[in-house]
Amino acid sequence: MSQNPIVPNGPPIDARRFGPKAPDHPSVGRPCAACDQPLQAGDFTVLVPLGPGADPEHRQRAREGRYYNAVAIEVHWACATGETDP
Ligand SMILES: [Zn+2]
Repeated sequence: MSQNPIVPNGPPIDARRFGPKAPDHPSVGRPCAACDQPLQAGDFTVLVPLGPGADPEHRQRAREGRYYNAVAIEVHWACATGETDP
């Protein structure tokens, strides 16, 4: 795992790379939101935060510029960073 910046039309954020994905990981087979290809065993992925979601407390914390638990989606590391898997 590593810390690398992601720059998707915004300021860099630190992202943790997960992987290689185990064959029995619950997200194996789910489509990557960026490329629509299924996540597979051996893939490296990253969680991309979307925002506070519907939780009123987390929305309030976001408005106040405080830390909150963000809703996130899992995508291929390469889809988020452009980097190839190690
Ligand atoms: Zn992808």
